[in-house]
Order: sequence, then structure tokens, then C-alpha cells
Amino acid sequence: MSKIIAAISTGKQVCAIGIIRMSGEGCIAVAEQVFTAQGVPLSQVPNRKLVMGSLQDSQGRVIDHCMAVCSRAPHSYTGEDTVEFHCHGSPAVLAAGLDALYRAGARPAQRGEFTKRAFLNGKLDLTQAEAVIDLIEADTADAAANAAGQVGGVLQRKLAPIYDTLTDLCSHFHAVLDYPDEDIEDFGLQNYASTLRSAAKELYALLMTYGQGRILRQGVAAAIVGKPNVGKSSLLNALAGFERVIVTDIPGTTRDTVEESVMVGSTRLRLIDTAGIRETEDTVEALGVERSKKALEEADLAIFVCDGSQALTEEDREIIDLCLELPHAIALINKSDLGTAVQPGDLPFTIVLETSLTKKEGLDKLAEVLDDMFAGELPCDGSLLTNARQYDACRRAYESILESLKGLQLGQTPDAVLTDIEEAMEAMGEVTGATVREDITARIFERFCVGK
Ligand code: GDP
Repeated sequence: MSKIIAAISTGKQVCAIGIIRMSGEGCIAVAEQVFTAQGVPLSQVPNRKLVMGSLQDSQGRVIDHCMAVCSRAPHSYTGEDTVEFHCHGSPAVLAAGLDALYRAGARPAQRGEFTKRAFLNGKLDLTQAEAVIDLIEADTADAAANAAGQVGGVLQRKLAPIYDTLTDLCSHFHAVLDYPDEDIEDFGLQNYASTLRSAAKELYALLMTYGQGRILRQGVAAAIVGKPNVGKSSLLNALAGFERVIVTDIPGTTRDTVEESVMVGSTRLRLIDTAGIRETEDTVEALGVERSKKALEEADLAIFVCDGSQALTEEDREIIDLCLELPHAIALINKSDLGTAVQPGDLPFTIVLETSLTKKEGLDKLAEVLDDMFAGELPCDGSLLTNARQYDACRRAYESILESLKGLQLGQTPDAVLTDIEEAMEAMGEVTGATVREDITARIFERFCVGK
């Protein structure tokens, strides 16, 4: 199989400019077969200098007058020789150009293969590579800024000193274990313990950023809860702007949870519509009830909805109690067009809005409230842990360090303590990619698009 990969990097839609990208040793020679640079052969064009020329198909017909740029190893994204063609953005032009490259010796790139090569060639660590996809998929400026910080290595720079500290400790332990008779400077138990404690403290601080990081990357997980028929699905539909959930007036018809990601003002919400939390004999509904409770457990924000035209019931109060356990909660007294049996003061929420979802009234205030709650709260320089995989590995590293500390206190043998420290390093290596398993990296790069 050819080592030279090629792909269109700019999507399938018509646009002003489209880019075909190629990477791998020998790709400049392949490019020369299909591209005639003006004045000078492509192989003699300096690094990273755009040059005009013509791109030909396999029969020698000119497909496009475009530009090409070579980046030679190791000074390229992938760390290999690469060539990019900046063409007119017609899908037909790009397809013909790509086909010409295949015929000249390149093969189709797999998803994320350019970035995978960058990772394998040491141009990016795994935190940076994962941030590349976050940057591509970012749908708010803050999420993009955070991802850009991580592509720039902010997370890597936070983790590296902790990893280095653990490496030093390990080598010291190894020295003590391997050469018990040598006169190695005695680090002392207290020093080991304090070094481990500060590593644990730093990891803990990082772990604590995950709640915010998750919101930044995925949006605020918001569970819409309330009794059946109060208007939860109507709320989700109103916010999503289209009929995502079937709205009926038969209580309990929303059987499952439904998720919808929407922008409300400048806040991204991952809305979770639930079946309503109530005890029931109906097994299908009971499943819905279970999921509702779960949705609330995993939510950052509870949006409690009640029917304002009817007095609150015990069931409402049970749900309210669950909502108040969350860091953020908002109440909507809905159906304000039908009457006012519930007053804002009846509800123990800091924020209570009155809405009529059928009349589309009161929702504009929701955007304001959410802006106050979440806007500007997050640092987005890349220092937040945003990804579940990274969080899980950091948590395991943290727990192993705590175990090693416990071992020291209990006077365990050095090799037992060493095992815990090595486990912590292994887990940290999974975050940066130093020790990650091949199947896991494969899964990470499968999330990428072709051409990245
Ligand atoms: P859910 O079971 O809580 O998801 O409630 P739905 O969104 O399915 O709404 C139940 C019924 O109440 C539907 O017939 C809606 O049209 C109606 N409804 C929702 N919001 C309002 C409102 O503000 N005013 C009135 N009059 N009816 C509403």
C-alpha cells in the first residue's frame, strides 16, 4: 500500500477555494506528475511558498489553474513531505485533481490520517490531536478558543511537569531497589510524600476543571423536568425551533428522553426532554421515569416546568426537590394564558419565569437568564479538561498517586509504592499518548473527517 495519502480537505460543497492535501515521502514527485508549476519545477520551489501552475488529469487535460505549496519533512503538519493544492472550489475539479493524484501513486487517506501521522511523528501529542477535532467541531467562539489553546499545547504543558516529577521519583525508587548497597542520596520518605502530594494536588485541580470544560465543549446539559402534560416537549420544540418531539395532550406520552443541542442567546444547551418524574405501574413509562431521574442526575441545569393554571401537587414538589440539588435550576410557570394558580413566590427557585409556550411568550427572558448564569464564567485558554477520556485517565492517575501515598504512610515496601506510581504514569501517558493503546488511538482518529 502506498505511503502517500491524499484527500480533499475542504468538504463537498461548492466554495471559492478547495484544498487537496497529500502527505508522505515521495509525494512531491507524485505532485510533479500532475502539476506544472510556472517557471520552475515544483521540487525546486522553496518550502511553504505558494506557486501558481496548472493541474492536469491523467490524460494531460488541464483541470484547473491553481496554486501548490510544498512543506518538506519535518517542517510540516504531519512531519512528512506534504503538498497542498489550492484549487477553485468545484467538487468536480477537486474530484478530478484527487483522481489524478491517485493515478500518479497516492492512495485515499483514511479519516484523521494526516493528524494521526502528526501524532505518530511526534508533531502533536494526543491532547493536541484531540483538540484538533474539537477545534473543527467547535460551535461557539469560546469552545474554539479553548480547543485552540489545547492544540497549542496548554494541557500538555500542565501535565508534563507532573509526569516529569513522577519519572524522577520512579528512577530514584528504581535506583534504591536495584543498587541497595550503593550510597544513593537518601531522598527521605517525607520528601517522597510531599512530592507526591503536590502532584496529586495539581491533578486534582485539573480534574476539578472538567465540569466547566464539558460545558464549554458540549454545552450545558439541561434536563427539562416536570409532571406530564405541563409543556416540557413544547419547550424543547420552541427552543429547537422545529417539531422535534410529538406534542400531545395525553399525559405521559413522551416515553423516552430526547436530546437536542440548541443555542439560546449565547449559551449552548444540550436539552434533555424527559418523560416526567412520577411513580407509575406502567413499565414502559417506568423506564422513561428512570431515565428522567438519570437525566437530572447528569444535568448541569434543571429546567423545572409546571402548569401555572393548576395548583402545585405533591408530585411537583418531589421534582422540585430533585431540581434544587443541581448547581443551577430555573423554574417555568407555563400556560400563563390559562390562568395563574401558581405564583412565582410559591416556588423555591431563585429564577422563576412565567411562560405561555403556545403563545411563545416569556422565552426571551430565558436567554437573558442563561447568559447571566453561564456567560463569561469559563476561562477558555485551553486549561480546562474537556474530554471524558482525558478526565478518566487523569482520575486514575490521581487515584494511583493517592494509593502510593497511602502505601508510604503504611510503610509498604518500595516496590509496592513504585507500582502505584508507575500506574499513575501509565494513566497520564494515556492522556498525552505516550502509553496509549493502539486500538484507543485508532478510535480517536476515526472521529476525524477525511482530509484532516
Ligand atoms: P409534556 O408532557 O410536559 O411534554 O407537555 P407537552 O409539551 O406535550 O404539552 C402538553 C399539552 O399542553 C399540549 O397540548 C400542548 O399544546 C399544551 N401546552 C403546552 N404549553 C402550553 C401553554 O403555554 N399554554 C397552553 N394553553 N397549552 C400549552
